[in-house]
Amino acid sequence: MPYRTSNHFCKEIDKEITIDKDTCPHCKMPIQKWCLSTVENWSLYARKTGFKPYGPHRQLLDRLFSQYWEDCSACGGIGIIDNTKTSNSKWIECTKCNEDGGKWIGTEEEWDKLVYEVVSAYPDSIVSSKKNTDNKIG
Ligand SMILES: [Zn+2]
Ligand SMILES: [Zn+2]
Repeated sequence: MPYRTSNHFCKEIDKEITIDKDTCPHCKMPIQKWCLSTVENWSLYARKTGFKPYGPHRQLLDRLFSQYWEDCSACGGIGIIDNTKTSNSKWIECTKCNEDGGKWIGTEEEWDKLVYEVVSAYPDSIVSSKKNTDNKIG
């Protein structure tokens, strides 16, 4: 389950504080409201990239991937947002990014190139090639 975080390391006052508001009163930074558990982070990563969320390929993949990935502005890149519509859960899947946390902003060719590069270096790193036909591209 995603959990609510209220801890914020404030650069303005140089210490970690607990905040129950949407923005930090000191530095005015918006507070990241939700955190994902480790397993949820892994599955988000696999959804985003189609690659395994851990392993030696991460360094290369992250470097290439981040150039063409734009974090979702609605959820801040984690795929869930406050549930303001119903009362049965405090959070819901972000509808803007379809729970992916953002979108691929490169071309299909750039995606193919990334997959090729990473898989060539780390053949065991891929878990799915669904991104090739993903309708979110383009
Ligand atoms: Zn602050
Ligand atoms: Zn989103």
